[in-house]
Amino acid sequence: MKFIETNLWHEGKERCVTFSYDDGRIEDRRLVEMFNKYGLKGTFHLNNPGFEEHFPHFLKDPEFVSPDDYKALYEGHEISCHGAQHPFLYYTPDEYIRREIRENRVFLEGKCFYPVRGMSYPFSNYDQRVIDALVDDEISIGDYVVTGGEIPACIVIDATARLLDGVLSSAECYEGESVASGILEYPQYTKPRVFRDMAVPDILLSGDHKKIDLWRLAEAIKITEERRPDLMALHPEVREPLLPKKKKRAKRLSEPNSEEQS
Ligand SMILES: [Zn+2]
Repeated sequence: MKFIETNLWHEGKERCVTFSYDDGRIEDRRLVEMFNKYGLKGTFHLNNPGFEEHFPHFLKDPEFVSPDDYKALYEGHEISCHGAQHPFLYYTPDEYIRREIRENRVFLEGKCFYPVRGMSYPFSNYDQRVIDALVDDEISIGDYVVTGGEIPACIVIDATARLLDGVLSSAECYEGESVASGILEYPQYTKPRVFRDMAVPDILLSGDHKKIDLWRLAEAIKITEERRPDLMALHPEVREPLLPKKKKRAKRLSEPNSEEQS
């Protein structure tokens, strides 16, 4: 079993605090100096000074760090997007929203020489049009509301990381799960054999693995019918191993491209 430590950070530290700053202001020089002194990390959301003619006075202002200094100054910290010209995105036509971020990302990657993945909305404002223009995919973790994105992000990380080789002891650990079979999992039993007059079902102690597999499937179907009938409706084929032999054969013959038909 390989454990992924989600409560440890760089160099085994147990607590983490992150900082993020926008615009690449000249004060970042002092800030980064302090961060480096105390081993702190920051994310710096930067623009493209001089990218367009619309805001040259804003982005060429000496109050901002020169892009030529981005790499050296922010070394060891993260650089991320903040819009090429720092626009109000919701006042910006869709095609320019994409251009703003694309040009900003290309520009920053040309400065820092690594993939730029993060983004901070200029003026901390966005609306649905910005999501429509920039977001390729959205993930729902369920039909309920939580107070922030942190917990859903952890759920997505945990649910996907455990599918990596070596995280669980073997692939069998997740092949029998509901995601793999399409229905809920069968009940699990362990020691002792009897607990408060509740005994482990005899069949699980029989040593007959074929019968045990069929029993587990029948239990899984029963649980799924009770708790998630919608999943049963999606995966009726899981019943097939429990059907009498005649029905199984009839089912196979009715399937298109069946070998027995040809
Ligand atoms: Zn800003």
